[in-house]
Amino acid sequence: MIRRMTDKLGHLAHGHQKNLQQQPIPGLPFPVTTHTHLEHRGSISTQRTSESSKRGESVDDTRPISESLFPYQRRPKGTYRLADFYFQRTLGTGSFGRVHLVRSKHNLRFYAVKVLQKEKIVKSKQIDHTNNEQQMLLAVQHPFIINLWGSFQDATNLYMVMDFVPGGELFTLLRRSNRFPDPVAKFYAAEVALALHHLHNLDIVYRDLKPENILLGLDGHIKIADFGFAKYCPNTTWTLCGTPDYLAPEVINQSRYNKSVDWYALGVLIFEMLTGLPPFHRPDDSPMALYARIQSGPSSIRFPAINILAKDLILKFLESNPSKRYGNLRNGAGDVFSHPWFREVDWEKLRNRDIVAPYLPKVTGEGDASAFEQYEEGDAAAQYGLVADDVHGIHFPDFEYTAV
Ligand code: AMP
Repeated sequence: MIRRMTDKLGHLAHGHQKNLQQQPIPGLPFPVTTHTHLEHRGSISTQRTSESSKRGESVDDTRPISESLFPYQRRPKGTYRLADFYFQRTLGTGSFGRVHLVRSKHNLRFYAVKVLQKEKIVKSKQIDHTNNEQQMLLAVQHPFIINLWGSFQDATNLYMVMDFVPGGELFTLLRRSNRFPDPVAKFYAAEVALALHHLHNLDIVYRDLKPENILLGLDGHIKIADFGFAKYCPNTTWTLCGTPDYLAPEVINQSRYNKSVDWYALGVLIFEMLTGLPPFHRPDDSPMALYARIQSGPSSIRFPAINILAKDLILKFLESNPSKRYGNLRNGAGDVFSHPWFREVDWEKLRNRDIVAPYLPKVTGEGDASAFEQYEEGDAAAQYGLVADDVHGIHFPDFEYTAV
């Protein structure tokens, strides 16, 4: 069973892998050591299996969102087109395209535009996930979640216009500093907990929490990006997706699962922030061995010396049985907010960004993207907006066609 899953997961992997250059971070308020494990971890996804759709489950999550009664008002979106922007450097890449820093020709402000090639999305059966990403982001507004201004398409690509978040990825900060001191990990974990609570209140499961997807704003507060696996999930779902180190056992088991997979992932994230590596990771490990360890539960975790309360919370999140997992009990997220590790957190102040962040990104101006890795630019941007046959546009009805 595990082998079958592993093959499936490995085969359908997507996401981005890149090496970061090791550089000192000016102004980092805690010791920086080098770390060899600097590769981004790709996200993976499989299309739902025909086996699962034969089960006759009561919740049919193969329907598009519009038909599964997504009950939340979407924010009015702006109308944008390619000609509104000067395309600048690449901020990140994925298997479907890349994210560019762009500058508006109208207000001269900087934005990030995520460009996705329709053909690649269709070939890798990620149509639903891509539509979900756009729809979930339009429904959500929260200080710790990326803001989507609008989206459009041309014959070849989809475009999503977001705020540019200049401080880079939490991943970069973590790898360059090796591990975070307890209060620093607690600060980021608390902001993530508030963001997850907000999503869960809207019945949105995020499903890809990891340091690569947490960006840092100019003020050092987090912005969760990449809603490629987020979906409306009032009950349970079963799609196999996420990032291997962060997958809850029930996702690997192909069981139905609910929003508690995000709390599980927060447990992994806290462990990784405090120790430098995720709990079930072993060097040169096979995915199969990783999945077996995750399924065997937290007893196989080697805990270094960390705050005893942090360890307690991690274990409560990594509980294999979702019905016993913190965040998924009768008090919901209330249990998380009142856990003793978070005792000194003023949640109201934190939500209002009245707490000073532990690290302020060193950026020189509004469009400074020096916190991001350099990518080979090629002629990617020159290909946008070209005339071509459009065979896939029909799958993405919420991405408007606007004049080039
Ligand atoms: P994604 O495919 O959404 O994970 O984006 C790939 C990478 O692009 C991310 O890991 C970030 O490094 C970068 N990125 C995505 N969105 C933004 C944004 N709004 N501002 C700055 N960088 C971004």
